[in-house]
Amino acid sequence: MVDLTNQYLRIQPEIDAAVLDVIHSTKFINGPAVKEFSDALAAYLGVPYVIPCANGTDALQIAMMALNLEPGDEVILPAFTYVATAEVIALLKLKPVLVDVHPHNFLIDTNAIEAAITPRTKAIVPVHLFGQCADMETILTIAHKHKLFVIEDTAQAIGSVYTFTNGSQKQAGTMGDVGCTSFFPSKNLGCMGDGGAMYTTNEVLAKRLKMIANHGQSIQYQHDDIGVNSRLDTIQAAILNVKLRHLNSYAAARQKVADYYDKAFAGSAHLLPPVRVANSTHVFHQYTLQTCGINRDELRAYLAQHDIPSMVYYPIPLHAQKAYASPDYPLGKLPITEQLCKCVISLPISTEMEEEQLAYIVKHVNEFCNQQTQ
Ligand SMILES: *Cc1c(COP(=O)(O)O)cnc(C)c1O
Repeated sequence: MVDLTNQYLRIQPEIDAAVLDVIHSTKFINGPAVKEFSDALAAYLGVPYVIPCANGTDALQIAMMALNLEPGDEVILPAFTYVATAEVIALLKLKPVLVDVHPHNFLIDTNAIEAAITPRTKAIVPVHLFGQCADMETILTIAHKHKLFVIEDTAQAIGSVYTFTNGSQKQAGTMGDVGCTSFFPSKNLGCMGDGGAMYTTNEVLAKRLKMIANHGQSIQYQHDDIGVNSRLDTIQAAILNVKLRHLNSYAAARQKVADYYDKAFAGSAHLLPPVRVANSTHVFHQYTLQTCGINRDELRAYLAQHDIPSMVYYPIPLHAQKAYASPDYPLGKLPITEQLCKCVISLPISTEMEEEQLAYIVKHVNEFCNQQTQ
């Protein structure tokens, strides 16, 4: 699905030097590269505070701990997302409240958010799924009206830019109270292991996030809160420092692939290319199509026969997962999510794709679809 080998080879001398520097310094934990990277990312995003941590799931958990959410508090999130978003809510004994998504752009349905608010609602977690921002202007208005926190899950959308109706622009993850991201290797800004970060513009909250990520201590051996141990490894920070400089060109490369696919599948009777929303750029963490009138799994099998990888993000809705099933969500209650799980397919998209590879993929996808029509 991604080509991490060629991505590395292109910047190998820079990466190797950065990693060796850390090894020679032996400052493996909280070495200088961690602060250098956090500062560079803060400058890139235009936020005063970036707090690094061990992975994107931890980022979400620490954000919820820092906001003092309490057991039983309700947190609204889209049903069509990666499990991590719901997992940390459940783990903290908060109540995940699942809402449906928009049928074309896969993003949280803001009408459904309004309908799900109760006196116990404390937060909304929009997920900037596949690389474009949810409707943040509406979400922030709803949150303001009902005094709710907004925690952006921006693990798939680093570098995506949202434009408000007044023309002002903000980076994904910098609009709510906290933005949470992941540097998992296949993410748009990926390290060579695990990594994550939280962003905020709020100084008090920044201090709490940092304290909770560090065993609940702001002064060594003084623990004011129950925290966790969640650090960004120095070697990973050094790698991210190099790769951050390439993030914009990576996004451009992904957009080029998406443009190619869009063109190739435009007008297809069996494929609906991803819809780009008007007020956000799309950094295409995934290129996800909806199939109609064909068997999605047969298409995948056909592609696999021709050595073309494909994935289904996500095959099972959260409310149909054994761990998250609840009488509140009988099957049929979140119909868009349920339908999407049956019909979506994601094609390979990466920063290093050749036109020849794209042509090969498109040829076989269209070949399968044409056979179905005949
Ligand atoms: C990847 C991802 C996460 C979790 O990130 P990890 O670093 O793997 O813990 C959370 N939410 C979404 C939407 C993701 O895609």
